[in-house]
Amino acid sequence: MTNISLPQLDERVLSTLNADGSRRWLEPRVSQGRFWRRRLAVAVVLILLFTALPWIRINGKPPVLLNVMARQFTFFGSTFRPTETLLLALLMLSIFVTIFLVTALFGRVWCGWACPQTVYLEFVYRPLERFILGRRGSTRRTRTPLWRRGALYAVYLLLSAHLANTFLAYFVGTDQLMQWTVRSPSEHPAAFGIFAATTALMLFDFVFFREQLCTLVCPYGRMQSVLLDRDSLIVSYDASRGEPRARRGGQPGSCVDCQICTQVCPTGIDIRDGLQLECIHCAQCIDACDAVMRQIRQPTGLIRYASQNAMARTKRRGIRPRVILYPMLLAAIVSALVVLLLGRVPVLLEQERIVGANFLTTADGFIQCPIRMLIENRSHEGSDFMLAGVGDVELVGGPRPVRVVQGTAITVDVDVRSPDRGFVGGRRGGALQIEASDGAHWQAPITLAGPFSLSPLGNAQ
Ligand code: SF4
Ligand code: SF4
Repeated sequence: MTNISLPQLDERVLSTLNADGSRRWLEPRVSQGRFWRRRLAVAVVLILLFTALPWIRINGKPPVLLNVMARQFTFFGSTFRPTETLLLALLMLSIFVTIFLVTALFGRVWCGWACPQTVYLEFVYRPLERFILGRRGSTRRTRTPLWRRGALYAVYLLLSAHLANTFLAYFVGTDQLMQWTVRSPSEHPAAFGIFAATTALMLFDFVFFREQLCTLVCPYGRMQSVLLDRDSLIVSYDASRGEPRARRGGQPGSCVDCQICTQVCPTGIDIRDGLQLECIHCAQCIDACDAVMRQIRQPTGLIRYASQNAMARTKRRGIRPRVILYPMLLAAIVSALVVLLLGRVPVLLEQERIVGANFLTTADGFIQCPIRMLIENRSHEGSDFMLAGVGDVELVGGPRPVRVVQGTAITVDVDVRSPDRGFVGGRRGGALQIEASDGAHWQAPITLAGPFSLSPLGNAQ
């Protein structure tokens, strides 16, 4: 048998990987400094917000509901459907440009302070683990009885089920979720399957996968090299002040090489190695190092929020092309969004194609053809409408009542008839109208199929 020897690496390839390829489990200590206290306050507000948002109602709708199955997207009381592609695209674009701008100015402030992954992992799951199993390196932790681990996993399960419910509420709505919750799983196995799978995903992420979501999966971290520039605010180590690092008794810079900044890092890196994509800018290393500096009576701020140019003491540029370009782009997108929103019709009436539709000539000299209309109630309060023809175009059988609940759309197949005059090249224009019970009405142009020409006797051909 051939022995295969793996190359030995001098450096760690991944902060969550040991040299032998096994998982390096991180058990970061907590440094309860000024940034940690502020992040805790932000986390409490955000957790309350994330949980409460699906239950709040604006115009009878939640502030955010992404009903993918019904293809309805609700934002702050207004429901959008895929027919409003431009609006949705502009909305997404404005979110992306805002992220670019915030990152250019303040680095990964989202990751360290507001991302649900960080908020729940650092302020819920890990504190629970420390509370039940004990702190890193403590005897209680190293000699944990089985029942404690069992208790921890039971709490994890409950918490993950709650998180799964909160997460699903953004996609199915709280009304649907309540129905799922109160009814037996056997009555809705598919829905229960979705809930169970989401709970399992939460467990996998927050109990097993943890910081690897930020360091290996999340695309945002990988994009930071293009989103940041040398003037963006990041968490940095002041090497000019800290180096040469040495434990007490040497000829040290300010860094006493106590390693505490690495022990508190939730992604397992050493900030003294410079800007790394694993760094989520949580400022734990700032708090930890400041505490050390205070102990050894040195000025704080050896690790601090500062741009790379500020740290290098080179000229800082407050105004850079990207901090001019992004706001301009954002202003243009938001203006276009506002214009579209102001011109948005509450009820959309639109003709859809029917493949192979044909016409017939009636005995009384009318041209009759089938058409299909899309009726979308975007924001009208009432649900009852009357569909009718306009001018010399009329619906066969007279105006037709239709019911379209707000935020939904239906298609209606109707036969329309019109005089045989006015057809050019086999078609003519016309219009249909939809009228709400309160008298509001909206029209839509339609195209009718008909004869190319009329015979000398007036028959359609
Ligand atoms: S906490 Fe500060 S002093 Fe200690 S190793 Fe890190 S940078 Fe050096
Ligand atoms: S290096 Fe500092 S700021 Fe970056 S993730 Fe680690 S502790 Fe947080």
